[in-house]
Amino acid sequence: MSIPKSILAMDEDDSLAYKRDAFLLPENTIYMDGNSLGPLPVSAQRRVADVVTQQWGEDLIKSWNKHQWIDLPYSIGDKIGALIGAANGQVVCCDSTSVNLFKLLASALSLRPGRGVILSQQDNFPTDLYMADGLSQLLGEQRCRLLQAPSNQLQQNLDESVAVLLLTHVNFRSGDMHDMQRLTQLAHESGALVLWDLAHSAGALPLQLDEVGVDFAVGCGYKYLNGSPGAPAFLYVASRHLDAVTQPLAGWMGHQSPFEFNNQYQAKKGIGQYLCGTPNILSMVALDAALEVFADVDMGLLRDKSIALSEMFRQQVLDSPALAELHLISPTDAMQRGSQLAYSHPHAYAICQALIEHGVIVDFRAPDIIRFGFTPLYLGFADVWRAVETLADIVGDLRYLEGRYQVRNAVT
Ligand SMILES: *Cc1c(COP(=O)(O)O)cnc(C)c1O
Repeated sequence: MSIPKSILAMDEDDSLAYKRDAFLLPENTIYMDGNSLGPLPVSAQRRVADVVTQQWGEDLIKSWNKHQWIDLPYSIGDKIGALIGAANGQVVCCDSTSVNLFKLLASALSLRPGRGVILSQQDNFPTDLYMADGLSQLLGEQRCRLLQAPSNQLQQNLDESVAVLLLTHVNFRSGDMHDMQRLTQLAHESGALVLWDLAHSAGALPLQLDEVGVDFAVGCGYKYLNGSPGAPAFLYVASRHLDAVTQPLAGWMGHQSPFEFNNQYQAKKGIGQYLCGTPNILSMVALDAALEVFADVDMGLLRDKSIALSEMFRQQVLDSPALAELHLISPTDAMQRGSQLAYSHPHAYAICQALIEHGVIVDFRAPDIIRFGFTPLYLGFADVWRAVETLADIVGDLRYLEGRYQVRNAVT
């Protein structure tokens, strides 16, 4: 494949191109799945090795103080806060997104005692709906009930019964992006609180949680933040709520003075009350080191490049006769989508497998969707151009019909 000069020129003009060296990616691989699992940053590889050898190996338990392990949930929280428009002291890094959702949904309900509905979207990420359902089973329908509405009927369902509007900012399948400002305002006008899931937004686009007036948010450490497989998640609580909230997972790390080993639970003041058990230090330091990569990144520029990459991809697919059967399910307007493009095709799974074998790593979402993630820190224009050419080859000569591409793996 010879790459057009105009494409090479775009890479030369790219002010984020130097960030590619901050990541360790295998040769001959175009990684378009950073929306699902971020790749390994050089900084994270070094830091984890150092923490294992020096801190754990040599300094042992002294490291909790000597290397500030105990402060990591807050220091990492504030670094994530800087990426999502949250001033210090409102974000903490802990647990998984699912567990954090549970804590925050309970907090929201406790702030709205007369209201029992969690309003969400039918095609929200399943864990968000499962956690809301689980809370409802625990508290009883009277106190907590999940209502799932289609995305275009959220507004008419926002009535005086709704305690909290629970939405994922960027839809994991289609990449559809909600207007956070508008929906937050609508929820507030109806007396409800909002909880935004930022799994596909944090590290992918600029966010302004404080400015928009968001109440609560959760997000993922292992997707666009590149924090390592299963890295801890984060949660955000607006400072105006911190004195009034409670949360049910009263573990000792959320206690005001855990090392007094007092039998009476007394929650920490501030965001620390959302901690539960002992932080997972190796994953936390990987995430902390991965966040260094973002330290000098202008999220506005990152977003511009993400849009340029995805628009180029979209146009190239449109111009490719072999790809006429790929149906775009993401919004065509780049301003209305996150940092991915999703296409449906009857043989989506097999096409994904064939692409992966040809060095273009993407993922499949049941029943028939191929997702392409655009991560401007390590993807260039020539990469994206090559990805579409490879896709057109595989689809054009029906190579994806070969038997080995039809075998389903446990994780897709
Ligand atoms: C990836 C993702 C999650 C993941 O939740 P975990 O509990 O961290 O596994 C949650 N919500 C959304 C919208 C996601 O995309």
